[in-house]
Amino acid sequence: TGRRIKQWHKNCVAIGLSSGFLEPLESTSLHLVQSAIIRLTKLFPRNGIQAQHIDEFNRQSQTEFEQIRDFIILHYHLNAKQSADGEH
Ligand SMILES: Cc1cc2nc3c(=O)[nH]c(=O)nc-3n(C[C@H](O)[C@H](O)[C@H](O)COP(=O)(O)OP(=O)(O)OC[C@H]3O[C@@H](n4cnc5c(N)ncnc54)[C@H](O)[C@@H]3O)c2cc1C
Repeated sequence: TGRRIKQWHKNCVAIGLSSGFLEPLESTSLHLVQSAIIRLTKLFPRNGIQAQHIDEFNRQSQTEFEQIRDFIILHYHLNAKQSADGEH
């Protein structure tokens, strides 16, 4: 279904399905939840919310989603298996 452009906006951080979803067969959702929590703890606004923390969180989240998207596309594109009806 895609991803939010900003996973962290002002004082609201989207994690899990609220942040986006990639196709189910590769099962990446729980990994994305865990890595987003770790990312948030590293950039947690202990002394107030700072724009550079928000930007860095959103940048890392975008990169992670896009790398997984590319891996999934590669997985299906390079797969030489054919379906039962002979289609790729
Ligand atoms: C059958 C199945 C198998 C799956 N297998 C895998 C797998 O093998 N690997 C993997 O990575 N992922 C898997 N997933 C996906 C993964 O489980 C989900 O992506 C993940 O649990 C989403 O977590 P979440 O916290 O974002 O959302 P959810 O777990 O859906 O949590 C949202 C919570 O918000 C609550 N809520 C909703 N509306 C409101 C409201 N208005 N007010 C208050 N609370 C509200 C809901 O009751 C719910 O508790 C699977 C999913 C399904 C359905």
